[in-house]
Amino acid sequence: MRIVVLTGGIGGARFLLGVRAYAREVGAEVTAVVNVGDDLRLHGLRICPDLDSVLYTLGGGADPTRGWGRADESWTVKDEMAAYGAEPGWFGLGDRDIATHLVRTTMLDAGYPLHQVTEALATRWQPGVRLLPATDDRLETHAIIDLDGGQRAIHFQEWWVRYRAQVPTHRFVFVGAESAKPAPGVAEAIAGADVLLVAPSNPVVSIAPILAVPGLREAVTDGPASVVGVSPIIGGAPVRGMADRCLAVVGVECSAGGVGGLYGGRATGGLIDGWLVAEEDAATVVPDVTVRALPLRMTDEAATAAMVRAAVELT
Ligand code: GDP
Ligand code: CA
Repeated sequence: MRIVVLTGGIGGARFLLGVRAYAREVGAEVTAVVNVGDDLRLHGLRICPDLDSVLYTLGGGADPTRGWGRADESWTVKDEMAAYGAEPGWFGLGDRDIATHLVRTTMLDAGYPLHQVTEALATRWQPGVRLLPATDDRLETHAIIDLDGGQRAIHFQEWWVRYRAQVPTHRFVFVGAESAKPAPGVAEAIAGADVLLVAPSNPVVSIAPILAVPGLREAVTDGPASVVGVSPIIGGAPVRGMADRCLAVVGVECSAGGVGGLYGGRATGGLIDGWLVAEEDAATVVPDVTVRALPLRMTDEAATAAMVRAAVELT
């Protein structure tokens, strides 16, 4: 069986731990297609927050409490940058993490495409699944906000980390998406999937930027034998993070039904055949979608693997 997962960072990475456990049990092959909309250049370094969350989490190197970045992290470089007054001060880069960005940036500057760089980084972390960036090309999520009496576009990381999503926001744009091409292997993996899983990632800023790469939405609607999504919203609130703020920007109710409806049934031009919701959301109805309620908290790998099994067996 071939399983493909569309994923963002922290929520998706935790989900992938369960996908990997399930796949080992049944002998399935897993490809994760990872969002790059959060990527940015800072201090000359290319940073890929979602790819790194997935690499570190699957490789056993993630900080378990903070959720992002490396375990046993130190912050000497950040403190030294602050002593120089170097901007931006709002983005935390740990010392261990910086090593990843140095290796990545050196390879990119030498001409290697992002998917090859990711493969090289994965030889250290051995994530146990194939990791592919959605695209090798520049695709950046920006937020259009009201600031100083006018409208401005700011990078998603600035919106999320600096402003904590607490600023009047009109919409998100995926800069570069129109001319981006799927990274090699992505469209093929999706087209050949027996099951495509949409991780319980942020639908607006993790999943949507992947689908904004020309051809990938069509690959999902036309290719896989079945497509099942997992709700990141439980009882009307995100389990963690600020997905509620993102959903408000695109005018979608923050509920399992709201996100299920945003994805839509594949039979009628949408993305999914099946939708897993939490037990407290058991009354959720999405037209043309098979909805199943079960525990959806990724408390440990076994609980998450049980979610994955339910997703695979749903349709
Ligand atoms: P990010 O890129 O680091 O923001 O991470 P993702 O977009 O992949 O995932 C963020 C989403 O994961 C949030 O909207 C959370 O609600 C969701 N999430 C986190 N933990 C859990 C969990 O235990 N269960 C479910 N169903 N969703 C979760
Ligand atoms: Ca992210």
